[in-house]
Amino acid sequence: MKTKSKIIIAGPCAAESREQVVNCALTLKKQGIKTMRASLWKPRTKPGFEGVGAKGISWLAEVTNLGITVATEILLPEQLIRLIRVIGKKGDLNKVLLWIGSRNQNHLIQREIAKIVKEKMPKTVKLLIKNQAWADERHWSGIVDHILGSGISPKRLILCHRGFSPNNQKNPENLRNLPDFEMAMRVKKKTGLPMLIDPSHIGGSVENVFKVAKQSADFDFDGMMVEVHPKPIDAQSDAKQQLTFEELDKLLKI
Ligand code: PEP
Ligand code: MN
Repeated sequence: MKTKSKIIIAGPCAAESREQVVNCALTLKKQGIKTMRASLWKPRTKPGFEGVGAKGISWLAEVTNLGITVATEILLPEQLIRLIRVIGKKGDLNKVLLWIGSRNQNHLIQREIAKIVKEKMPKTVKLLIKNQAWADERHWSGIVDHILGSGISPKRLILCHRGFSPNNQKNPENLRNLPDFEMAMRVKKKTGLPMLIDPSHIGGSVENVFKVAKQSADFDFDGMMVEVHPKPIDAQSDAKQQLTFEELDKLLKI
């Protein structure tokens, strides 16, 4: 992926501590990354570490003050209202990117989140939408239609392909989720929106993250969202798939 003109979002699966978040931001800034991901609220298959929650918002505010855009998942409208209040007071709301994750398939909530972005956030703030977990093209482009129903400008939307649940399908490479690059390209064309690739949640392991990123380079993706952790082995979620900063450097040269 020629990274110069691409949207690159890199950072830990989850925000774990102020120190982890700020150190990541400083290191990524040195690596030339302009947008850092870090989830505060984590939807999980089974109950476990579900993120640090609202107490991490002020850590993200600090990141915005370093001149880096911070990206985080919003599950509920009230989380976004709180984030706007805290970052509005302590940081820079222009330097925020939000996303709706694959498990958040309640269209009323999706639309409500988009409406808050439209009405209460600076126009520079973008909303990224990940595909749902099951392979259904109509549903995927339908999410975009639902979200546009909020009145948000399509210029503020970005899509991201994170693969589909393998269920009982053949999966010789043992991917965590199966990509459908062709479908991603069709949805990109139909919606006219930029499409990123998330090799982390497709791959599920460091080796597979590299493999998927290489495969995706044959398609017209507009960038990448990838998980990076200062010490992946100690990560509280998705430890197996998070890259070190050195590995990220290598990946971006693909
Ligand atoms: C994530 O990006 O942290 C995440 C939970 O991804 P997804 O919604 O694609 O499962
Ligand atoms: Mn993750």
